[in-house]
Amino acid sequence: MPTRASNRTITEKDVDSVLHPYTNLKRHPEVGPLVITRGKGVRVYDEAGKDYIEGLAGLWCTSLGWGEERLVEAAARQMRTLPFYHLFSHKTHDVGVELCARLLEMAPVPMSKVFLAGSGSEANDTAIKLIHYRSNALGLPHKKKIIAREKAYHGVTVATASLTGLVNNQRSFDLPIPGVLRAGCPHHYRFARQGESEEDFSSRLAAELEALILAEGPDTVAAFFAEPVMGAGGVIVPPAGYFPKIQAVLDRYDILLVVDEVICGFGRTGKMFGTETFGIRPDMMTLAKGLSSGYAPISALMVNERVYGPVAEESGRIGVFGHGYTYGGHPVSAAVALETLNIYAERDILAHIAKVGPVLQEGLGSFRDHPLVGEARGIGLIGALELVADKTSRAPFPPERTMGAKVVARAQDKGVILRAMGDAIAFAPPLIITEAEIGDMLRRFKAALDEAH
Ligand code: PLP
Repeated sequence: MPTRASNRTITEKDVDSVLHPYTNLKRHPEVGPLVITRGKGVRVYDEAGKDYIEGLAGLWCTSLGWGEERLVEAAARQMRTLPFYHLFSHKTHDVGVELCARLLEMAPVPMSKVFLAGSGSEANDTAIKLIHYRSNALGLPHKKKIIAREKAYHGVTVATASLTGLVNNQRSFDLPIPGVLRAGCPHHYRFARQGESEEDFSSRLAAELEALILAEGPDTVAAFFAEPVMGAGGVIVPPAGYFPKIQAVLDRYDILLVVDEVICGFGRTGKMFGTETFGIRPDMMTLAKGLSSGYAPISALMVNERVYGPVAEESGRIGVFGHGYTYGGHPVSAAVALETLNIYAERDILAHIAKVGPVLQEGLGSFRDHPLVGEARGIGLIGALELVADKTSRAPFPPERTMGAKVVARAQDKGVILRAMGDAIAFAPPLIITEAEIGDMLRRFKAALDEAH
């Protein structure tokens, strides 16, 4: 039965029907949507056939780019064999098991077990619940506070948005929930004192963390969450010595370290995990995005024995570990993830990143002389340019005159899709990007930046 809706364009239907995430809802009808219809390699195409280089791999996830037939085949095969099953109540399925076993083999530090979920937020939310469960198991009901950092991004559920340290994720949502403590952001360019070296800045942040723990009472603090490179906070690469110094403080007070590898995992920083790039020893690690190259929703939480042991004991005592998502470890997503990991290994994605990562970093570095660019930073295939109102004083643009959104809008016109985090423009292209495509992306971007100036 034809309805009125069938005559309307996708744009009209979008404006009438979609509540868009991360969008100014009131302005959306006036701005209008960009309708993406297909993708191939590092490029996506809109309704009119115009091509865009996806400079952020979608949402930092499409590591193998668009049009990877092997992932399509893996999904189709699994759909035909076992499109749904779960891991609840002693049930299992082969692809879920194989994926957990593979992740344990790949883990950069000894890990005990893997919990599968559907998104980065769910994996981090599960980590928070395990922290609480474990403290109860250990008879430490007061050891529940969790420390996260300014500008952190750990997701958008009630609990993970409370750990996220960005204003838009909390303002008007009545967040954060109680029990979240805030540590400083390790951004040397913005927060170091005049003349403070990276090592000294790291030492100061570690000392401030220790002071926070002592002020709260070490027996009330359970865990510290960190992304190796902070992503949505503006691509912040930790200063020299940061993680070893932070880790030493956490060890002193028996505080768990949860490393959120949702963006950094699977090659983004040059090694398989950010944990390896920065010499971190996590008790828990969360993975998503690159795990399936974004082709199917899936995430994983890995826990070591220090976490798993007490949790298993507690579940034995009270009867069941009462947590799990219907789609956690979905077989189609698990099959796609396994095939993604096969492709990373067969094509030696790390060797490719070692070749093209420096091209991206040098390319971003070449913008340092641009009048709008205060800092170019990054590692591997992730980076950012921070735009400033005044290069000498490092003064940011005032909030009512932010430059990031303007530059990103112009870049879109020029055929490159990027994201602005305030005035930091993030770059995290598909890991398969070539030298020539990096050149093309940065040329398109430069034209936009020059125009915005
Ligand atoms: N953690 C990090 C570091 C992320 O960047 C994100 C998403 O961008 C998340 C967690 C949340 O993942 P999701 O959007 O899949 O819930």
